[in-house]
Amino acid sequence: MMAAIQAAEYGAQVILLEKNEKLGKKLYITGKGRCNVTNACDRQGFFDHVVRNPRFLYSSYDAFSNWDMMSFLEKEGLVLKTERGDRVFPFSDKASDVTKTLQTAMERRKVRWVLHSEVKELLLDEVNPDSPEKKGKTQASMICRGVILSDGRRIEADSVIVAAGGLSYPSTGSTGDGCRFAEEAGHTVSAIYPSLVPFEAEIGKRIPCAALQGLALKNVGIEIRDGGKRLAEDFGELLFTHFGVSGPVILTASSLITERLNDGSGKKLELRIDLKPALTEEQLDARLQRELAAGANRQMKNLAGSLYPSSLIPVILQLADISPEKCGREVTREERARLLSVTKAFPVTLSGTRGLSEAIITRGGVSVREINPKTMESKLVHGLYFAGEVLDVDAFTGGFNLQIAWSTGAAAGRSAALAESSYSQL
Ligand SMILES: Cc1cc2nc3c(=O)[nH]c(=O)nc-3n(C[C@H](O)[C@H](O)[C@H](O)COP(=O)(O)OP(=O)(O)OC[C@H]3O[C@@H](n4cnc5c(N)ncnc54)[C@H](O)[C@@H]3O)c2cc1C
Repeated sequence: MMAAIQAAEYGAQVILLEKNEKLGKKLYITGKGRCNVTNACDRQGFFDHVVRNPRFLYSSYDAFSNWDMMSFLEKEGLVLKTERGDRVFPFSDKASDVTKTLQTAMERRKVRWVLHSEVKELLLDEVNPDSPEKKGKTQASMICRGVILSDGRRIEADSVIVAAGGLSYPSTGSTGDGCRFAEEAGHTVSAIYPSLVPFEAEIGKRIPCAALQGLALKNVGIEIRDGGKRLAEDFGELLFTHFGVSGPVILTASSLITERLNDGSGKKLELRIDLKPALTEEQLDARLQRELAAGANRQMKNLAGSLYPSSLIPVILQLADISPEKCGREVTREERARLLSVTKAFPVTLSGTRGLSEAIITRGGVSVREINPKTMESKLVHGLYFAGEVLDVDAFTGGFNLQIAWSTGAAAGRSAALAESSYSQL
């Protein structure tokens, strides 16, 4: 939609083809239905949050940044608000208002959109080697002249922008068609992994996470290790689910280790949760001693209520190998040391990530080495552009992934419109 708006703004006649029954189906579920549309950070802040290929985005971001997106939306009549972590949302808290605003912006610029229109393949052609315009202009030996739809219709065009998304949440329409088109056009598609995705896990080495299903731990520290090597660390909220762990700190960590957990080796990684990150080991030990003394005649299963959420108590005591029936005064020095250790490094074994259908974004996609970062045009095929999640770029949560789509979409739309006339002669 952003690519279409910019192309029309720069004078092109635009037709947007969408296979679903409505536009922006994924947008409706972003930000839990509120759409975290971008982030109000500065330039450095934006690039600090891009995990894959940040440098590829320099030009498109500079030409259409998060601040440009915010003023674009406001000019189009959408009131915005900024929340914790500089996350920007529509003031109405309705993702549908973002889609409506984009649709109105398209209407104003006379973009035509056609629903229920699935693109099946690109119309590719050889570039005429004798064309005088080809000389000095491009290395590309192919040209894209339009698309063929699944119902057999041919639509010819001077430029085609593929903004078909990645492979995550395929129910929204992003089923990997964009990567297939890229491969058919000779592009390299780098390995695909789920990212910003929950982990499958067990507590310790054998307790199912289902034992703690629904437990949300706020303000905990996490560390993910592969033997002696620390792969990720963070602080924030974590959630236990029936299959493993999720929540903000887990999604962010997944972005750093998804390749490692999905390399087919079956290797497991160690997650340690610091349940009391504000206390040093010495401070925690002093606190444990106080609690045990104060509850000298109370059983551990009751006494521990002042230290941990109730659903966590049986699991903590099992891991620390302390009988729940024991009274505070009966707890030995060794048992207290084990309790301290489990509290500062609650052990979880990560065995894998959940699949693409539950991943907020797709890691991997069209290799950015074959795309011009300024224009988003393919270096291999004239008149073919890529934008958004189909590209091998991704970021942490916070509105950054949508901003990638806005910046690259705007670049593709603008350049396709400006280049349009020169292609017809190739
Ligand atoms: C649950 C969830 C929550 C998210 N929340 C946020 C958030 O709050 N903030 C944020 O920044 N990011 C968020 N994201 C990520 C963000 O939604 C995506 O990165 C972004 O939508 C990518 O935009 P896109 O235009 O590249 O692809 P998409 O939004 O996937 O759009 C691609 C479109 O192309 C259409 N299409 C595909 N193939 C064809 C074909 N062959 N013919 C015709 N049409 C086709 C699809 O139907 C779809 O409408 C979230 C993702 C998920 C899954």
